Amino acid sequence: MPNSPAASIPGPEISASEKSEKTAQWVRADRDRLMHPNLPDSRTERTVMVEGRGCHVRDSSGRKYLDAAAVLGVMQVGHGRSEIVEAATAQMSSLECFHIWETMSNDKAIELAVRVTGLAPPGLERAYFTSGGAEGNEIALRMARYFHYRREQPERTWILSRKSAYHGIGYGSGSVSGLPVYHQGFGPVMPDVHHLTAPDPYHAEAYGGEDVTEFCLRELRETIERIGPERIAAMIGEPVMSVGGAVIPPPDYWPRVAELLRSHGILLIFDEVVTGYGRTGRWFAAEHFGVTPDIMVTAKGITSGYVPHGAVLVSDEVAATVTGSTGFPIGFTYTGHPTACAVALANLDIIEGENLLENAVKTGGYLADRLAPLRDLPAVGDVRQIGLMLGVELVADKTARTQLPTGAAPVVQALREDEGIIVRGNPRSLLINPPLVLDRGAADQLADGLFSVLERVGTDGR
Ligand code: PLP
Repeated sequence: MPNSPAASIPGPEISASEKSEKTAQWVRADRDRLMHPNLPDSRTERTVMVEGRGCHVRDSSGRKYLDAAAVLGVMQVGHGRSEIVEAATAQMSSLECFHIWETMSNDKAIELAVRVTGLAPPGLERAYFTSGGAEGNEIALRMARYFHYRREQPERTWILSRKSAYHGIGYGSGSVSGLPVYHQGFGPVMPDVHHLTAPDPYHAEAYGGEDVTEFCLRELRETIERIGPERIAAMIGEPVMSVGGAVIPPPDYWPRVAELLRSHGILLIFDEVVTGYGRTGRWFAAEHFGVTPDIMVTAKGITSGYVPHGAVLVSDEVAATVTGSTGFPIGFTYTGHPTACAVALANLDIIEGENLLENAVKTGGYLADRLAPLRDLPAVGDVRQIGLMLGVELVADKTARTQLPTGAAPVVQALREDEGIIVRGNPRSLLINPPLVLDRGAADQLADGLFSVLERVGTDGR
């Protein structure tokens, strides 16, 4: 069967009544047995996904949806790619699993390390593999502190991060995340973390009349002075904030931050877990800003989510320092997992072979043009786009730029239920990250659905 991204989802194979009985069983078992992130008990409904092809998925009742969230921002090449299934099958048939601790290695981990460091901005020459984004950020934070420890500066332990940032839910990655919900109730967070103000050009009035970059740079300079540069290990940031709402910083922000950090010997960690592997129309968002970090954390799009995987890309200087004569002492069981690496290689072949970066630029630009008139609607404040990463900020008051009292949740629900379109939302914005194989037809479906729902939304969010 052709398994191109455009191929449609196969039709139902069981009768409608069998389907609804099966769905009812699954929903009951789900409620009884399965714990979901971020789901209150009062919500009893479930959408049980069972299959996917290209940009679409189908639930257990047979309903088809446009997956404009690319699962959770992972699915670059679209659902149902036989090339990836074949790569995983071939690898599992030869060597499904082995580790790369000490002198052990495997061919796929080596090939993937060569491949991803070849794609990364020049200067990031070594790869450390993980099973996801939070794990990658844990490694990056530890590498940064260990780097200074190995250079006889063990007092450099402070990590600078930003408010509204999301870096995952590990101990370190959760602590550097700048959203209070990831801290409250979970006991002490990691010490020596400071959250700075993140640049958000749409809310420029919040910077006290100062230019957004100037404000952030002044705050960074003052913070470095207050803590003392000799006590700061690194600053971590998403080049473009994802969970925060596709917030694109002013073009001079990252180059100036990088320069200031470098002048104080502070490492820069980019979290490219969402932005990596073509999401913004370049291999990595760092390229938009002409900045090469010392450590770059990637995951999600490296395998399009077919299996969990991630890669931390590191400069030669950092790698050599943390490795030293005794080796970097920490690793995961699945660091360099050969099946995950084989899947990543097949996924990168598709991204390259089908020019998906170019498609992200073209179809992302087309979507931005189609969505621009959304700004005329009463509840829409801003529409942001970079490649196929989009954010639609919803407002109760266009002048004051205040958020809807309901957040984006009712809009996300209406898009799913009324239009068959899946997006994500936060209290301020809709987060739209479609697969990079999105074509014009699916882009039109997305734009039409957004208009249809947002035209009905009042400034009370209903
Ligand atoms: N960093 C960013 C920017 C993310 O958006 C996420 C997850 O959405 C993570 C890190 C955490 O990745 P994971 O859920 O794979 O641990």
